[in-house]
Amino acid sequence: MRVTFLGTGSAMPVADRVQTGLLVEAAPGDRRPLLVDCGAGVLHRLSQTDPGYEAVSTVLLTHHHLDHVADLLPLVKARWLAGEERLTVVGPPGTKALVDDLFAVGEYEYLDGRVDVSVREVHAGTEFSLAGLDVEAFETRHSKPCLAYRFADRGGDAGTEAADADADADAGGDFVFSGDSEAFAGLANFADGARVLAHDCSFPDEVDVDNHPTPTQLGEALAGTDVDRVYLTHLYPHTEGNHEEMIASVERGFDGDVRVARDGLRFEREGPPGVVRRPHRRERRVNRDAAGFLALAALWGTAFVATKAALADFPPVLLAALRFGAAAATLVAVAVATGRGLRPAGRGDLAPILAGGAFSIGLHHALLFTGQQYVPSAVAATLLGLIPVLTPVAARALRPDDRIDAVGAVGILVGFAGLVLIADPDADRVRALLQATGAARSPAVRARPRPRSAPCSCSRRRSRGSPAR
Ligand SMILES: [Zn+2]
Ligand SMILES: [Zn+2]
Repeated sequence: MRVTFLGTGSAMPVADRVQTGLLVEAAPGDRRPLLVDCGAGVLHRLSQTDPGYEAVSTVLLTHHHLDHVADLLPLVKARWLAGEERLTVVGPPGTKALVDDLFAVGEYEYLDGRVDVSVREVHAGTEFSLAGLDVEAFETRHSKPCLAYRFADRGGDAGTEAADADADADAGGDFVFSGDSEAFAGLANFADGARVLAHDCSFPDEVDVDNHPTPTQLGEALAGTDVDRVYLTHLYPHTEGNHEEMIASVERGFDGDVRVARDGLRFEREGPPGVVRRPHRRERRVNRDAAGFLALAALWGTAFVATKAALADFPPVLLAALRFGAAAATLVAVAVATGRGLRPAGRGDLAPILAGGAFSIGLHHALLFTGQQYVPSAVAATLLGLIPVLTPVAARALRPDDRIDAVGAVGILVGFAGLVLIADPDADRVRALLQATGAARSPAVRARPRPRSAPCSCSRRRSRGSPAR
């Protein structure tokens, strides 16, 4: 991986610092480099690089403040004039509306359609691939919803390691960009184990500031974090002449290497020599995901039986409220422990909270718990299992720009096949199995097998008497 700082300035640029922009290449000279943020001046800086703006067909935005998006429309025009036909813009929720609005400005409508601009919105906590890079997103603390990004190093530029198949799992060169953010433990955890972190450090300690950190705050947040080198960036004019003090302030809390970024600075898997191998972050993540998946399956799998038992003593809606009260308290505890923000930041946060609360939590569980009074737990669980299978299909109808890829389509089919198998297991096979265990003496199992084309209601009545309960 190779990273070039194109712009290390802020909303108040200075002579040698344009607004925010970085060029991230999966390998040096990669023919499809990724541009991260596109503030004013970044297009000009791009023209000074070897790939140039002609090669940049993907832009990843941290957030929508002007000093991160101002050159987006000029980039589209430059690419059109250079004969390039495509640009993909990726960013947090609201990116589609932003791009649409840019092209809706009357004077610039002539640009619409000159370049095929597609938009992809990404969310905090998700991982995705872009321009040959594996990227992970994390929500920062800023005055606008903003995402920090972690770019996993695939080892492509380290000659000897690239030949080693294991280099793919070596997270030694991971790079993290904070976007605009206060310094806090959650973001420091997100950067933990990376080789290089580029962090917003907008002002010197003398300036009292929100939404950006001071060097002392950054050092305190990074204390104990395993990162080799931190570059301070997003520098306001107030920082000029104060770089040494700023570095010293960060170093009071953080014991890694601290430097001030500058426009045009480039690094490749940089860091103190001798520190090459690190815990394999991707491996750890796979283990963590597998453990989480098993825990979730155990919790969800038993939730239906527990709900059934609790319904004997509680009215369904009160039970739903109690369950989510307990879940909310747990979630707050986890959020506090991991240093995540508790206050919603603007409309981008409030709309999903309201919609999710009303539909996914409130209505969904009121209906589910009410329904569970009339059907067996197994039927409720099976019907509920349809949600992740049907949701991508419904989402496709509502969001045609959000495509289901081949792997996703196979996943949906496998999920659906699994449900059919659970809802209509082969009666003979089940009976043979039960006979083998001696359970078939139960009258419910001796019942004649129903025809396979029987309507769903039969299945409900049958499974009520199933000894498998
Ligand atoms: Zn900002
Ligand atoms: Zn900014």
